[in-house]
Amino acid sequence: MNFINTKVQRTQSGVYFCVLRVFVFTVSPFGNIADKKNLYNMITVNENFKLLNESYLFSEIARKVNAYKTQNPGADVISLGIGDVTEPLSESVIQAMHTAVDEMADRNTFRGYAPECGYDFLKNAILENDYSARGINFSQDEIFINDGAKSSLGHFGDIFSAENIVAISDPVYPVYVDTNVMEGRKIIYLTCPPEKGFAPQIPDEKADVIYLCSPNNPTGSVLNREQLTAWVKYAQKNRSVILFDSAYEAYISDPAIPHSIYEIDGAKEVAVEFRSFSKTAGFTGVRCGYTVVPKELQAYDKTGSSISLNALWRRHQSTKFNGTAYIIQRAAEAVYSTEGKRQTQATIANYMNNAKTILAGLKSAGFKAHGGVNAPYIWLETPDGMTSWEFFDKLLNECQIVGTPGVGFGPSGEGYFRLTAFAKAENVAKAMDRIGKLM
Ligand code: PLP
Repeated sequence: MNFINTKVQRTQSGVYFCVLRVFVFTVSPFGNIADKKNLYNMITVNENFKLLNESYLFSEIARKVNAYKTQNPGADVISLGIGDVTEPLSESVIQAMHTAVDEMADRNTFRGYAPECGYDFLKNAILENDYSARGINFSQDEIFINDGAKSSLGHFGDIFSAENIVAISDPVYPVYVDTNVMEGRKIIYLTCPPEKGFAPQIPDEKADVIYLCSPNNPTGSVLNREQLTAWVKYAQKNRSVILFDSAYEAYISDPAIPHSIYEIDGAKEVAVEFRSFSKTAGFTGVRCGYTVVPKELQAYDKTGSSISLNALWRRHQSTKFNGTAYIIQRAAEAVYSTEGKRQTQATIANYMNNAKTILAGLKSAGFKAHGGVNAPYIWLETPDGMTSWEFFDKLLNECQIVGTPGVGFGPSGEGYFRLTAFAKAENVAKAMDRIGKLM
């Protein structure tokens, strides 16, 4: 039993002193039951984890595909499923990595720990190319380099209280849901009606944190300026924060669609933006992304005093993260070089050409398909009222094509199926040929 508690306190003049607090308990011969965590006084878990849905989507897909391959050895199975990139890193990125490796081999240029929130050379490239070029100005300390968007999206909730109500689209990239379940927050699901282009609808009730993803995984839809403006106004009115995931912004082809939420007036006061080099430049296995937390952005403590989210996130990152590797940050910087941009654009154009082939193939085969114009995902309606898993089985067994059942992204994904444009062009052409014969 812990009955002596010391606390270090600071006086106004900055002098520290110790407060010794002594608690007196009535001690029974069996120990103090109230002091125990459970009946047997054992380590306890975060009970919220028991509320998580079993994450079986991609493991179930892998199990079914492996079973099919075992039964049909030599079958030419084409994957348009998991959504990982297939093209190698660009020449500029590879060159930058080689140079950085050589620097690490030399005592004069070797680097140890990177700054927790990123090197200035990468932040400057981001500020100049992703923001100033669109008339948006930030300073270096509003950019936080990370090891990809997923970890920062997953951890950002650490700086909000568990009492906040979170609004999340259905269907959705599952990380937003699972991390908030882990933290015990109440979630409101936003409907994304097909007749509204799968755009999440503004709820009647108040949400404190709102996750928006545009271009969207899985529906391939995008939010236009008017829709984003409505969300910014909602957040201003309700003193909420929008967590804007634009991991796929490089795939936007329509010049009217915003790439950044900060293209909307007032967004700096209500939004955090998450970006990634994963899909932009093939960094899924390299790991680099960044978060923008504007200095204007505030949240409140229990007394109603405002607190800078930029300061809290900096505190979070400097405590829990030790920086992205120097070699990787140099690789990301090379994405913004003239050659790097050209090579990156060429790879994205290849993927989007695949998207075009998939959309055309599906439409001529009689499917209703969405997305694939400003995003590398195609969201198709399953035919003849099939469930998304039934359609998965049909496509695998009859066409040897692997996609992702829509229901894996939330209940409203039932009746839909996701195909990805991340594939080799010849495989996409072959896949569409097979689907054409299916219907
Ligand atoms: N956001 C969305 C919508 C995604 O689909 C993904 C990856 O698939 C990510 C974020 C995470 O990307 P990464 O952690 O590779 O940067």
